[in-house]
Amino acid sequence: MNRIQSLQQTFGEEVIRLDEPYVKKMSRDYYWYSPVLKKQLSGYAGDCVAIPRNEDELEELLSFAARHRIPVVPKGGGTGNYGQIVPLQGGIILDTTKLNEVKNIEKGFGTFGAGITLGKLENLLAETNQELRFYPSTYMKSTLAGFIAGGTGGIGSIEYGTLWDEGNVLGLTVMTLEEKPKRLTVHGKEELARYIHNYGLSGVIVDATIALAPKTSWQSMIAEFERWEDALFFSEYVAKGKHIQKRLVSVSAAPLSASFQPLRSLLSGDQHIVLLQIAPQDVDYVQQIGQSYQGKWAVDFNTFLASQRLRATDFSWNHVTLWRMKDYPDDTYVQARFDPEKFRLQMNELSAAFPDDIFMHVEWIKAGGQVVPSSQPVICYKADEQLFAIMEKCRQIGIRISNPHTYILEEGGKDDWIEHICAAKRVNDPYNLLNPGKTKRVEVTDRV
Ligand SMILES: Cc1cc2nc3c(=O)[nH]c(=O)nc-3n(C[C@H](O)[C@H](O)[C@H](O)COP(=O)(O)OP(=O)(O)OC[C@H]3O[C@@H](n4cnc5c(N)ncnc54)[C@H](O)[C@@H]3O)c2cc1C
Repeated sequence: MNRIQSLQQTFGEEVIRLDEPYVKKMSRDYYWYSPVLKKQLSGYAGDCVAIPRNEDELEELLSFAARHRIPVVPKGGGTGNYGQIVPLQGGIILDTTKLNEVKNIEKGFGTFGAGITLGKLENLLAETNQELRFYPSTYMKSTLAGFIAGGTGGIGSIEYGTLWDEGNVLGLTVMTLEEKPKRLTVHGKEELARYIHNYGLSGVIVDATIALAPKTSWQSMIAEFERWEDALFFSEYVAKGKHIQKRLVSVSAAPLSASFQPLRSLLSGDQHIVLLQIAPQDVDYVQQIGQSYQGKWAVDFNTFLASQRLRATDFSWNHVTLWRMKDYPDDTYVQARFDPEKFRLQMNELSAAFPDDIFMHVEWIKAGGQVVPSSQPVICYKADEQLFAIMEKCRQIGIRISNPHTYILEEGGKDDWIEHICAAKRVNDPYNLLNPGKTKRVEVTDRV
């Protein structure tokens, strides 16, 4: 009997699944957004999926993996874009979705199991008149820990910043991968940074305490603009206007909205669009300002969304790329942080250098307290060389690139804390079994 069969014998068939089609399906995320990763990652799969039903079972599983030196890749909703959950060395896909307990909800913060989906959480919080501070556009599927260990920010980041900004993630319980797993209680910016956007390399998140916001009845609004500059300047005005309470400021250049299939009866498709979520008291004001920038508002957008069971957020963040790829499967994207002082010049320069290759898409966010145009431009992909040339041009003209075409954590461009993450990994995961191969800083030879 091999060690995986022995794992199943120990934990039973409900907890350890070996059926190949299922294991293969669970070994994939949305890495296929990237033509580069598609070529690199399509062949990989785990040996089994483990679905612990509670924290004690998780601890026993991690102990078994340490004793038998089996790689473990923690998995939430599997919606990551960079092959984060693709097991490069086989082993256990650790499905955490049953660790979804609501542990505590207070005014302003709460503690929740790692595997709770953000969609479920948002609905639950409404009962306490609260809401998430921010969430990714995949929130119906994505889990709390998957977001913390794999994401950055999302709808609400215009007000509250990103996962790294202090006061958003307040505490974590993390389990180590050792013969006798430890439960670590993690607080404070530096300690927390060891587990934020770490691809699960340095420990398994068991639960998270996060700050919450008071509930607001957000109103969705969408306007079309003939001129890109009008759309962009209007969105900047809304994003930077401290007097306007908002949760989403998203701008998609023409013809991206032509691919928003469910909105085709509402939009002309050949215009630039600004998509907003605004607090009720500011809707009329924002509408007037939009008109002064020549924007044409879609009438009764909220009613339309409700009648079609749609969410405005389905047309923001990386969902913009997804809609585009439904029409143009070869297209892809890059992640670019423009300079808030020079972004217009940078956008013009980039478009001039690659006139037929880029459609701009901007999500305004706050990062480190500053309002910045974060961007996921869609790229009409022709070849890897063209993609790399676009990212290189961005860097040359001062646009900060987070490369979504690599599965190596430190090559992705969100690596400010990589040394801290690897330091924690060396202590918490002495055999380098957690998601091995996703950093070059901890070699496989470290496994003893
Ligand atoms: C259409 C689309 C839109 C998106 N929009 C956004 C967006 O707006 N903002 C954003 O930040 N991202 C976005 N993403 C990326 C992704 O959806 C989010 O980051 C999401 O929150 C990931 O959560 P998940 O549960 O699916 O994580 P998974 O993909 O399952 O995992 C992500 C990473 O977290 C690790 N992990 C999971 N659970 C644990 C655990 N318990 N302990 C330790 N590590 C763990 C995994 O090993 C993996 O490395 C988008 C992706 C798509 C396809």
